[in-house]
Amino acid sequence: MILDFTLKKYRELCSVIADLDYSVITLEEYFTLRKLPEKFIILRHDVDDEPEYALIMAQLENMYNIRSTYYFRTVENVFKIGLIEQIHNLGHEIGYHYEVLDEANGNYPKAINIFNKNVDKFKGLCEIKTIAQHGSPLVGQLSATSISGIWVIFKNILKGNKVFTNWVNADIWKEYDFKEFGIVGEAYISIDFKDVYYISDTGMSWNNKYRLKDVVNQTPAGFDKFNIESTNDLIKMIKIYKMNRIYLLVHPDQWRDNLQDWIKWSILKHIRNNGKLGLKYFWGLNGSHAIR
Ligand SMILES: [Zn+2]
Repeated sequence: MILDFTLKKYRELCSVIADLDYSVITLEEYFTLRKLPEKFIILRHDVDDEPEYALIMAQLENMYNIRSTYYFRTVENVFKIGLIEQIHNLGHEIGYHYEVLDEANGNYPKAINIFNKNVDKFKGLCEIKTIAQHGSPLVGQLSATSISGIWVIFKNILKGNKVFTNWVNADIWKEYDFKEFGIVGEAYISIDFKDVYYISDTGMSWNNKYRLKDVVNQTPAGFDKFNIESTNDLIKMIKIYKMNRIYLLVHPDQWRDNLQDWIKWSILKHIRNNGKLGLKYFWGLNGSHAIR
């Protein structure tokens, strides 16, 4: 059996990217460069949970001279100062993975205050220039990345506590302007998805069946017949189609190295994805949304 979503496979992806004539740019560069390279890949990472995996990935990319963007949530289990510093020192961009409407339960003035405070948490570490909304259906520290995490979710459901949220965090920018916080771009709403080929590993799969919250409107001409599920498909796609502008979203905590860890994660993935399909049905969404 050949495992996918392993660090070995990620290393292969990095090596393919490094061998081809792509410039790998950060989100900040995408938003601020006066002239973009002719062929580029934006590599974005949402650090949702277990930030240790983000550091491993950042070191791996560094071996291939790849600079990417890591979006950190400010929840306790993710916001590890030493770790963020190490990733920053490797030359990567650090951004804020915000979930302020979830935290403020939809109260906009409260949400923007939380945003302000959380951006301040990065001060002294690095300057936050870009942000990306977090789109987990779970509130706060709840996480479905371990059996114990899922157990905590069930206990909360039984107690009648609020477990799910369906705020779209980026909606805060319908009321406020992130530029007032020195932010130059938002990784969803400031991107023209007709301009870049976007693909994400959400739910440990490159296809989009499990997406709930990250809305994109893209129909890249000619590529619709090419089915991408495995990382090998993605590598093949990059090699064959040689698209000029590619935007990859990779969740570091979904890429595992040892077999035991991988099997555990793979089983959890099925539980999580089935839960997400249930939520999608519940919310009456039509499949253009994604989670995490
Ligand atoms: Zn997220």
